[in-house]
Amino acid sequence: MSRIGFIGVGKMGNPMAHNLLKSGHSVKVFDLSKEAIESVVEKGALVANSPSDAAADVDFVITMLPTGKEVRDIFISSELLRKASHGTLFIDCSTIDVESSLTVHTTVKKAGFSMIDAPVSGGTVGAEKGTLTFMCGGQKEIFEKCREVFEGMGKNIVHCGGPSQGQAVKICNNMVAGTIFLATAEAFVLGEKLGVERETIFNVISTSSGNSWVLENACPLPGGKPGSGGSKEFKPGFSAQLMLKDLRLSQAAAEMAGSSTPLGACATAAYQQHINNGYGQLDTASICLLIDPEIE
Ligand code: NAD
Repeated sequence: MSRIGFIGVGKMGNPMAHNLLKSGHSVKVFDLSKEAIESVVEKGALVANSPSDAAADVDFVITMLPTGKEVRDIFISSELLRKASHGTLFIDCSTIDVESSLTVHTTVKKAGFSMIDAPVSGGTVGAEKGTLTFMCGGQKEIFEKCREVFEGMGKNIVHCGGPSQGQAVKICNNMVAGTIFLATAEAFVLGEKLGVERETIFNVISTSSGNSWVLENACPLPGGKPGSGGSKEFKPGFSAQLMLKDLRLSQAAAEMAGSSTPLGACATAAYQQHINNGYGQLDTASICLLIDPEIE
């Protein structure tokens, strides 16, 4: 069992740290929020007083922070890398821009350490159940050394390639998902306006070439897929605000790589408008309200 420093114990980090404790690891947590720290300490974690304290005398340091800015600040501006013990491995599970991820990989390497970028999918439910998918970028040998830590928090653990390629795969997936949410919502609104029953549209698309994970699991309609009795209030799940964040990351990456993503750009603009309309805290599936604000 390992000694783990965990920085950022919010909605995702809290249940992830809890699962590591349940797997028998010793976990030391740091967060800017005292309440966030206390909520994990109640479950058996130790308190770290700073990022560098979280990194002292541990085998692994996990970061689960909001954006590239916080991750760069922690790795570049704090004492973290100066105070870490020789051989400590760094795992950044935050979803951040590819450029920041590459910068942090380089900084960590220059300081004589190794790291893996390992953004997740599965949301807060996956974090609680310990069923997250980890998309990992970095040296394969280091990835293998981190495997037992990932297994304490997730089920599907994938080595995607070199530094920052975990981030690359995550934002490519979410760019596809964001686009499909939008296209699926458009199809239902159009079909119903043409007089077709919602259930008929669902039955045909779900058994035809328009089928998708989105249609089957997070159908963008009030109440979810016809007959599912799901929430009409679009309780998240994965919020529209987080989808916009990932779509924006996809557009930044596309610009960096000189790659054309016209549908990704469209989905980004659509989610931006949806959030401007005040729906950022609703589930991603609420994008149908952008296509038809009166949809029921
Ligand atoms: P969150 O805001 O709930 O948690 C982030 C935590 O980091 C907070 O507790 C905050 O106080 C802390 N923090 C911020 N700056 C800090 C700093 N400098 N030092 C220490 N602590 C600091 O966010 P979350 O939903 O847990 O998301 C974390 C990451 O996971 C994000 O990158 C997000 O995109 C990604 N993600 C979230 C979900 C989801 O469903 N919430 C799903 C997949 C991926």
